[in-house]
Order: sequence, then C-alpha cells, then structure tokens
Amino acid sequence: MRMDSATARLRLWLVGESARPTWLSDAYTVADGPEHADVAVLMPGTPVEALDDRRASAHAALMPVINASGQSMPGALCDVASLQPALLDEALGVARPVVERLAQLPEIDALADTAALMVLAMAHSRQTPIQATWDFTRPAAVRYAALRGIENVRELLEELAAAELLVRERFDCIHYCPACDGSRLNVREECTECRSSDLGSEPLVHHYRCAYQARESEFLRGRSLECPKCRRALRHYGVDYDKPGVVFVCGHCGAESSDPAVGFLCADCGRHTDSERMDTRTWWHYAITSGGVTALHRGVLPHLSLEASMARGPMGYWVRDFMTLLRFEQAQARRYQRPLSVLILRVHNIEAMSDAWGGRGLSQVFAHLVDVLSECLRQTDAVTARDHVVYVLLPETPMAETEVIAQRLRETVETVVASPMQITVERSGGVDGLSTVLEALTD
Ligand SMILES: [Zn+2]
Ligand SMILES: [Zn+2]
Ligand SMILES: [Zn+2]
Repeated sequence: MRMDSATARLRLWLVGESARPTWLSDAYTVADGPEHADVAVLMPGTPVEALDDRRASAHAALMPVINASGQSMPGALCDVASLQPALLDEALGVARPVVERLAQLPEIDALADTAALMVLAMAHSRQTPIQATWDFTRPAAVRYAALRGIENVRELLEELAAAELLVRERFDCIHYCPACDGSRLNVREECTECRSSDLGSEPLVHHYRCAYQARESEFLRGRSLECPKCRRALRHYGVDYDKPGVVFVCGHCGAESSDPAVGFLCADCGRHTDSERMDTRTWWHYAITSGGVTALHRGVLPHLSLEASMARGPMGYWVRDFMTLLRFEQAQARRYQRPLSVLILRVHNIEAMSDAWGGRGLSQVFAHLVDVLSECLRQTDAVTARDHVVYVLLPETPMAETEVIAQRLRETVETVVASPMQITVERSGGVDGLSTVLEALTD
C-alpha cells in the first residue's frame, strides 16, 4: 500500500493496549497493523519492545514512530508528551515528509540486499545522519538506535562507507577488550609493580639543608616534621623545606612510584589489560551521499556490481579510464600497424543469479570471474565491465589468436566459477570492431 499524494491522510498504526480516545478514531485513519499504515504511534504506557514485531518487513522497520509512551525511545522520529490532537498533528507534520520520501522508494522487501538498502533508506528518508550513541546496555557500548534490529550493523555501515554511499563523521575512538571485544571497561590507576588499584598518594617532602627527599610520613614526629637523615626540625615551608610533588603508594604491596600505571579491567569478561596493550576502534556517524541516494532509488548497490568487481580486480579499469586506454591503444595500433583485439564476455543470467543469491552472493561469483580473467590474461591486458558485459582489451594480439584465449576463458569459467553462470565470448578487432566497442561503452 502506498500513500498516493501529499494531501492523503496519514494512516496510523496505534501500538499498545492503552485506551484509544474517540477523537483519535474520528479524526484519523487507523490501520490495524503496520502493512497498511504510514506512521506508528507508540501509545501511552507501552514498552518499546511492542514495536519489535514490526521488524518483519522493511516497510514496517522504516516507518516513522511517534513516541507517546511516556518513556524514552531512541530511534523515535519525535516524542509527544501526551496524546492530544494539537501535539499529534504537530508530530504528524514532522512525519509527513519522511513518509513521502519513503513512498518514492522501490519495494525494498522485494530486492536483494535488504539490510543495506534499509540503512540507506533510513538515512535518506530522515534527511539526517545515522547517529552513533552511547549505550552501556550492550558490550560494544555504542549503538545506532535508528537501525534497531539490523544485524552486524557496524560492518554494513563501513561497507557502505567504503563504497562511498555513506560518508563518515567521527563519533569517538573507543578502547575495547582484546579478550571479548567489549568496550565496557573500567580504566584505573594502578601500582606499577602488582597492578593493584589500591593506590594512595602522599606528598613528598624535600629538606633543603641536606637535600634529603622522602614521603611526608617519614618526616612526621607527632604533628611536627623532623628530617630522618640529619635529624633537624623542619619549621618553615619554603625556608626549610618544600613539597615537590606526590608519590603513589600501593596499599597491597607497598611499592612507591611517581607515576601510576594505567590499566583496563573488562566489566564483561574480567580480563585485565595494560594500557599499552589496548587497541581502539573508531565509531562514526554516517550520512548518505548523492551516490547513496541514486543507489537507493535504483534498488541496486553499485559496489556489488559487475562493473565494480572488474574495476577493482587486477588489470581492472572503470569504464571511463578503459575508454581512454582503448583510444590510446587504437591510435598506437594504427600508427605502428600493430594488432589489437577485444574480447566481449556477456553474462546472460545475472538477474536469475541475483534473485537466487542476492547482491552479496552475486559479487562473490563476480570475484571468481575476476580470478579466472587474471589467470587467463596477461598483465598488459585491460578489463572493464558495463551492465552485464565484460570487455577485455588485448594489445599486440591479432584476431586469429583471440579464439584460443576465448576458448580458455569459456572452459575456465565453467570449471572455476562454481555456479551456473551463462556466458558467451565474442571477439572483436580492426578499426570497425573497436569503434563498435567504443560506442557500446559510450551509451
Ligand atoms: Zn573482556
Ligand atoms: Zn635533612
Ligand atoms: Zn602493588
């Protein structure tokens, strides 16, 4: 179900058992579940967990939530202090543009890579970065409240950032336990000898006259100070003595030190780690890029495409660079009367493979294909892809020799790519053939 226009009434899904005031049913369209609703309202007194059922579909998970529960709900679009017509109208005014942006997206549930597209849809529909926040109810101590219910969310966000569909902004750099990976840690000053945190500090006393320096307790005789080395009384601060600093004394082993050690105690697994052995992990907020918006509306993740797989492989080029290279090689071949050929591999069943395995599975198949190409080709060859077609540029290769290479490619693809990938290999060369290739790449 889609919202058809900006003037359409928003359909509300009232989540919770609490009584529904009559004005609510009179003035609004109330849906009986998330499928036919545009906005969820978490009713007064309802626990946040009541929304967890809705995670079943992307539509429901992306639905803006107006939190009227009276409790805090990280990830809610907005909170209303109480359920009143004016407050609800105001909240729906905030929700409307979000619902409109969501309505323009393809059906994410019907596509592969649902989780990645949901992340992009969340960032785009809210027009706000996906925020990292502190959350000490979980071992990582950080969460992305807007992406509640999505698994391995950090890896997913990093992958999308690497593909430039999201752009990162630093949240914080956080220590984590080398034993359990958790970040719920107590940072402590510790004894340098025995690592106990039972440290007391005591002022140091420095006797000017004999230059003796020690803890204050060594100088104390009742309430006055006497030098334990030269036995003179210390009367005037700044004249007889001064206090140049403090010393840390371990209550466990008695060791003294001027600088305590720093150690980390993991609250989850109990492991103690010295500070110099700790590692940190940087957490980020993520905003969607224009490339991310384009990918979202197409419903396809470009970094998992055949084009990206080929461009990242050895001998791989993005289409534009490949065309520059092809024009250069073409000019060289013409000038010096050298042979130059192109192989064209068409993958015929990408849609079927994508339906079967999703974009991620498909990109693994493409990775195998890249391996095959790098085995069969020379370092001087060049590879690119556009849509479902791979182009291989073979300098110094006459058309007559390309059949051997084409045959080897066909056979290796059959044996190495352990999936029913249907490919055909065509050969092209000469001025006309290469011009046709350039035209195909330009479109
Ligand atoms: Zn731990
Ligand atoms: Zn002295
Ligand atoms: Zn100690």
